[in-house]
Amino acid sequence: MNSITLYNSASHKEEEFVPHEQGKVNMYTCGPTVYHYAHIGNLRSYIMEDVLEKYLRCSGYDVNRVMNITDVGHLTSDGDTGDDKMLKGAKREHKTVMEIAKFYTDAFFADCKKLNIRKPDTVVPATSYIGEFIKVIKALEQKGYAYTAGGNVYFDTSKLSKYYVFGDVSEEDLAVGVRDGVEADENKRNKADFVLWFTKSKFDDQELKWNSPWGVGYPGWHIECSCISMKNNGEYLDIHCGGIDNQFPHHTNEIAQSEAYLGHDWCKYWFHVHHLNTKGGKMSKSKGEFLTVSLLEEKGYDPLVYRFFCLQSHYRKSLVFSYENLDNAKAAYDKLVSRAAQLISEKDTQPIDENAFEALKKPFTDAMSDDINTSNAITALYDVFKADTNSATKLAVIEDFDKVLSIGIIDRANKLIADKAQEDIPPEIMALVEQRKAARAAKNFALADKLRDDISQLGYIVEESRQGTRISKKQ
Ligand code: AMP
Ligand code: ZN
Repeated sequence: MNSITLYNSASHKEEEFVPHEQGKVNMYTCGPTVYHYAHIGNLRSYIMEDVLEKYLRCSGYDVNRVMNITDVGHLTSDGDTGDDKMLKGAKREHKTVMEIAKFYTDAFFADCKKLNIRKPDTVVPATSYIGEFIKVIKALEQKGYAYTAGGNVYFDTSKLSKYYVFGDVSEEDLAVGVRDGVEADENKRNKADFVLWFTKSKFDDQELKWNSPWGVGYPGWHIECSCISMKNNGEYLDIHCGGIDNQFPHHTNEIAQSEAYLGHDWCKYWFHVHHLNTKGGKMSKSKGEFLTVSLLEEKGYDPLVYRFFCLQSHYRKSLVFSYENLDNAKAAYDKLVSRAAQLISEKDTQPIDENAFEALKKPFTDAMSDDINTSNAITALYDVFKADTNSATKLAVIEDFDKVLSIGIIDRANKLIADKAQEDIPPEIMALVEQRKAARAAKNFALADKLRDDISQLGYIVEESRQGTRISKKQ
């Protein structure tokens, strides 16, 4: 297994990746808060995490990836104040919380599919784990880490020897709990304490509530991820992923709860993806003005062009989105596709040169092993096209890189070739094809079959599939 170096936000340095159990990786990702569509900033995080996961798999690790779906508990501030995000979404759409949770969970995975993001092995909606949250909160209480005040259950951060694991947090950051003109929570013993279970809050109309030893209420956001990970990844987590904004308070609180509960260290490596910004600043769901994958598609962009755009930059640098930048990525992507199409047309029955294959793969592996440097990995991809070897070898290398990059260059190249072939079909054949389409739409299958035979007699084959109608010249 090749040695992989990862930057660990907890130690603030690059470290050799050594999982708790040899050959296995337990990986956890904070999933989306499903009160709205994911914006392309959120999806940048999921793309980069997907690349990390796939690289680990291709390096021979057995990866167990777990993700939560936040369908309860996330307030509009990342602390314990503001409105409930799910309730806000439900009100906006005049639907129930569970209806919007289902709708936006499905929309999220549909976006992931378009972006070639693999679905995690285990996906857990927070609302399905209430019993688990109560069990862990009870244990924290018994161990002296939790207290009840004003009806809510809080985590007592003063009981920890170290709380700010990712670095010092300023007074300003601590004020996450008092944003939006909301008063600080007087029940907290220490400023950094956070809610594990709400029974009393300012939401009289909280839609989702459950019985608990502390009264009818609902869980805090942070406890969700700790419990879902500990239950599905085990007591020792190798990698925890998320966007950089999750470092504090969310991940800081996850560590506090998990380690207090387990009584030992919990997660070894913290992988944080920096933000996608627009020229105007951070892209934010709660502001309601954000870009989605569907919007990019409406504007004519292939979602994989956006994936390629993300991979051109390192995940630990913030990335500025503009249509001009996306157009540049599109031009580069289209060029790669047409060069791959050229290779496909030259390939024939050439044998793969194993030595050249390995030599071309090395710079890619070096780049990816160096803290998932996708930008250098893309340079390695460009170098494949320039290499002094046959087309079949180049295509095999490109295909191999795509197990990790998932930008679909060869797939799109095949489509380009097929589309070009369609352009050469004579107009009289196309007219018969259109008549056949109309006959099929009118369920006149006898006529449709006759037209197919007519087309065949003229030397062409017509085939329908989910991708559409394809016409090819008989060989
Ligand atoms: P949310 O749905 O708000 O819970 O966020 C889902 C994921 O997207 C989290 O890992 C966030 O840290 C991440 N995220 C939020 N905003 C951005 C952004 N502008 N760029 C990259 N990642 C983001
Ligand atoms: Zn989380």
